[in-house]
Amino acid sequence: MDLIAALDRELQQLDERSLRRRRRIADTPCAPQVQVDGRPMLAFCSNDYLGLAAHPRVVEALREGAILYGAGSGASHLISGHTRAHALLEDRLAEFLAPHLDAVRALYFCTGYMANMAVLTALLVQGGDLFSEELNHASLIDGARLSRARVAVYPHGDIEALEKLLAASSAATKVVATDSVFSMDADLAPLPALLALCEKYGAWLVVDDAHGFGVLGEHGRGSLEHFGLRSPHLVYMGTLGKAAGVGGAFVAAHATVIEWLVQRARPYIYTTAAPPALAHALMASLDIISGAEGAERRAHLRTLIGQLQDSLHLQKWEHMRSESAIQPIIIGANERAMQAATALYEGGLWIPAIRPPTVPPGTARLRVTLSAAHTTENITQLVTALNALETTLEDNV
Ligand SMILES: *Cc1c(COP(=O)(O)O)cnc(C)c1O
Repeated sequence: MDLIAALDRELQQLDERSLRRRRRIADTPCAPQVQVDGRPMLAFCSNDYLGLAAHPRVVEALREGAILYGAGSGASHLISGHTRAHALLEDRLAEFLAPHLDAVRALYFCTGYMANMAVLTALLVQGGDLFSEELNHASLIDGARLSRARVAVYPHGDIEALEKLLAASSAATKVVATDSVFSMDADLAPLPALLALCEKYGAWLVVDDAHGFGVLGEHGRGSLEHFGLRSPHLVYMGTLGKAAGVGGAFVAAHATVIEWLVQRARPYIYTTAAPPALAHALMASLDIISGAEGAERRAHLRTLIGQLQDSLHLQKWEHMRSESAIQPIIIGANERAMQAATALYEGGLWIPAIRPPTVPPGTARLRVTLSAAHTTENITQLVTALNALETTLEDNV
């Protein structure tokens, strides 16, 4: 079979460049202590930033949701799959984001990937100019590709370059799309400056807050709360499979924007509604995020981030310090990053090596993510291992 042989050759090339990815099988719930491929491991790789993925109240709500609504929704939202659970969740999310968005309404999606595709394709269904930040998540990039817009990519964090592009645009619809916390570098987009530009030039600002929602802001409302923003130009996307611990995502914006998505966003319309039990479980997550326990979890997470930043002493590798739960450590070459991840794994620490094309060539890295479910002892173990490993690997060159 020539077709199979051709793919096999391509796969072989991935091996040669240390780019082949493999999936490890977890036998236990998402938590710091996990059983992976039959081995107990201490994990620093999930996006379960508040430790809600296996929280008893959330799990119990999921069970309750299944009893109330069954397992599947049976159809898309516009046919018959839109249940009371979905509707209640959307109301709760809108209420939660109300301090930051005028006339706010929220729309629940099966995934953040689909929500980003939906927003960009629907806002730009009649064409227009889309200004996309260089380090945006793949789902925004794919949404841009699928939209009818003319797409301009602006350099990372470069407000001046963006302003030139906006000033030169005569499109009726202008959209600026950005991650709030960049998933691989973990820095924050300059949202106040971006919003000011969008207001000046009559553009929408689409904010992907996958890593901010639940984590940033005093009440966990995410990057808009962190920066104290409110504007009718904002279209906010938050994911619910990361800090919220369950799955899916939502878009919150002016009610008219949301109604437009319901009418025109193909990734919303042409897919089966997520199981209603997920929406039911997410209401328990939201109770936790917005209540006293959420505040405690965020405070603990901040303590752990501070502990890591104070005790990690790297010489050659670069720790990118972030206010978020993501703490990348840039190593450089793919092979060296793989060696580091493998050595850590052998020592019982599960930290993924991120390589191109997810990050630029020459910036392969360990992507450490912290969770409120970690303990200070967990961080001590991590820091000790990383400080020692850098010495071992880099002195043996
Ligand atoms: C995870 C992620 C998404 C996709 O969300 P899913 O719900 O996992 O599909 C979108 N944007 C960013 C920045 C992400 O990190």
